[in-house]
Amino acid sequence: MLRKLLTQTSSRRLLFSGVPPLFSKSTISPFSSLSSSPEPPSSESPAVEHPGTTISIDRSSLYTPPDHSHESTPDSELVKHLKSIIKFRGGPISVAEYMEEVLTNPKAGFYMNRDVFGAQGDFITSPEVSQMFGEMIGVWTVCLWEQMGRPERVNLVELGPGRGTLMADLLRGTSKFKNFTESLHIHLVECSPALQKLQHQNLKCTDESSSEKKAVSSLAGTPVHWHATLQEVPSGVPTLIIAHEFYDALPVHQFQKSTRGWCEKMVDVGEDSKFRFVLSPQPTPAALYLMKRCTWATPEEREKMEHVEISPKSMDLTQEMAKRIGSDGGGALIIDYGMNAIISDSLQAIRKHKFVNILDDPGSADLSAYVDFPSIKHSAEEASENVSVHGPMTQSQFLGSLGINFRVDALLQNCNDEQAESLRAGYWQLVGDGEAPFWEGPNEQTPIGMGTRYLAMSIVNKNQGIPAPFQ
Ligand code: SAH
Repeated sequence: MLRKLLTQTSSRRLLFSGVPPLFSKSTISPFSSLSSSPEPPSSESPAVEHPGTTISIDRSSLYTPPDHSHESTPDSELVKHLKSIIKFRGGPISVAEYMEEVLTNPKAGFYMNRDVFGAQGDFITSPEVSQMFGEMIGVWTVCLWEQMGRPERVNLVELGPGRGTLMADLLRGTSKFKNFTESLHIHLVECSPALQKLQHQNLKCTDESSSEKKAVSSLAGTPVHWHATLQEVPSGVPTLIIAHEFYDALPVHQFQKSTRGWCEKMVDVGEDSKFRFVLSPQPTPAALYLMKRCTWATPEEREKMEHVEISPKSMDLTQEMAKRIGSDGGGALIIDYGMNAIISDSLQAIRKHKFVNILDDPGSADLSAYVDFPSIKHSAEEASENVSVHGPMTQSQFLGSLGINFRVDALLQNCNDEQAESLRAGYWQLVGDGEAPFWEGPNEQTPIGMGTRYLAMSIVNKNQGIPAPFQ
């Protein structure tokens, strides 16, 4: 089965020959410490101290934008909106609320109105690097569907599908498995109308009912539905959930230990009318989640904690996923950059493939944070005793164990030199970092890989046993 999946040729992206990707959201390595450029504190607000980090970002080769602080540019709609929230609330907002507005504000959020991916956009993701990524996720879903006893009807849910490239490659890659593709109802959870349109296009959909957001993808003849949240996806049916680079976009709260105990880092407007970070003078509601997260920390982590980043939205989403999988059967696959440890301070902003200040021109840059994998594991286990959690393992191990090396070999049989070069570059970007034992070795031109910075974790219904390739 695995072999058949890996060696068959898919019809379109067989020889992907796109522009080599320039940058991934993961250009992060353990060299210098992360500073999100906190502004000086006001007289009444405590200073935000520099993080004593366990996470760090290599900014050595980064372009530093010129300081235009002397120029006053008119506030964008989003800046006006954020300032009005702070004004009418009568005080600063949490980093999480800032992040949520910046990314998904219906009018001006970063994701809401345009295609942000690829060389022309702000960052690149694995499905955009190579068709092999979506194909390997296809292998994973077919294997789990087999373990589920080949159900006749399955909801295949993707959270945050971006351009829809992963799903398109998955459907093309699995199209020969008629029983599998015929069982599928695809549910795309996407908040951005602009990206929903792009997904519709890339999945080659024809509308069944535009009012109900329902279409059929001609790639595999499967029905496709769109939703704003996972709760909207109908339950009661075995479910496969894919979340690739979704969790990193979910809002995070940041806490810092001070002489007054744990304080939440907040976003305020200074006297110069610019955004700046301050510390909350008293406990905030998110402190409840902080306490919960701390109970899952190891004694060593607890001892070193000075800064902690938590994502209550990620915890709640995981619980929703685990309950669904626990009662309906199936499983979820989460792939993202993150750590198998508590996260201290990882929030970053990326515009046009460069790191920028988190508070600078909100809505024009992507904001993302490292994913806290232990928190996903504990949230899932807490929500349902019918699920088991596996991993995390590195993306390199995950794709390697599913057989990406066989797949690249099969594709290389049928291509010219230029296409072969593009395939190899894509392969190395997916599994690379010098730790993938599956190829001869990268050359100087090979882009930095995502193989070890990205981690894969799976939550499955216990009836399904251990999912591939976590055995
Ligand atoms: N999985 C894709 C895209 C990752 S970017 C890929 O790997 O290429 C994050 C995606 O999640 C985008 O499609 C964005 O619009 C969507 N998204 C972000 N926050 C969301 C939210 N709160 N609800 C629904 N979709 C969201």
